[in-house]
Amino acid sequence: MHRAFVRRFLVGCSSLRGSLNYIRKAMTVPRPVVITGPSGAGKSTLLKILMEEYKDVFGFSVSHTTRKPRHGEEDGKDYHFTTKEEMQKGIDQGEFIEHAVFSGNMYGTSKAAVQTVLAENKICILDVDMQGVLSIKKTNLNPLYISIQPPSLDVLEKRLRDRNTESEESLQKRLAAARQDLEISKEPGLFDVVIINVDVRPAYNKLRDVLQVEIQKVQSSSNS
Ligand code: 5GP
Repeated sequence: MHRAFVRRFLVGCSSLRGSLNYIRKAMTVPRPVVITGPSGAGKSTLLKILMEEYKDVFGFSVSHTTRKPRHGEEDGKDYHFTTKEEMQKGIDQGEFIEHAVFSGNMYGTSKAAVQTVLAENKICILDVDMQGVLSIKKTNLNPLYISIQPPSLDVLEKRLRDRNTESEESLQKRLAAARQDLEISKEPGLFDVVIINVDVRPAYNKLRDVLQVEIQKVQSSSNS
């Protein structure tokens, strides 16, 4: 009886050790970050500042898209610009973690894009639309979910018009998607944090504060 007790105790200890190791690992391994928000909410601007300030900490998962490049966008840096046929082929071959159709164009996160960032021991940032968020929720990626939102739809429309990157048709599609996404984003627990981007600086400060725990995980592991 004594021996059986000792055996049970040791088995208990090893599974406890396993659990403790798991908890310790979860506490030190930085989580990926999913950032979403309506087109024109300011995600790209905030991410650009973040990447500049913490270029050794964060890496951007470069998505695929079938939309045409905008002025100044680089293939392989901003997006992998591709065709519908090529992208569908990749999807059929299981190369994508998630994909969606947004405003008439295909967008998707490939497994390779995320792997590239993880291989550099950086925190992977995924900029996806709301469909992407809902798809990633079904995976075991376990990211932080952050929603960047405009103060109002009127402000969003003005920003999109001032940006002057969209045709009237595309702009209307983006506004319709924004209206729908802002409704969905009210669902309790969908996001870890919602940041209302009234001005860039305070919005950026909040983003940086939210990510501080993950930043420290990377910085302390690279110092050790
Ligand atoms: P844009 O055409 O303005 O660059 O992006 C349009 C929308 O597509 C944005 O909301 C952006 O977050 C989203 N998006 C960009 N890449 C991906 C992706 O890989 N997957 C999904 N689901 N959405 C994406």
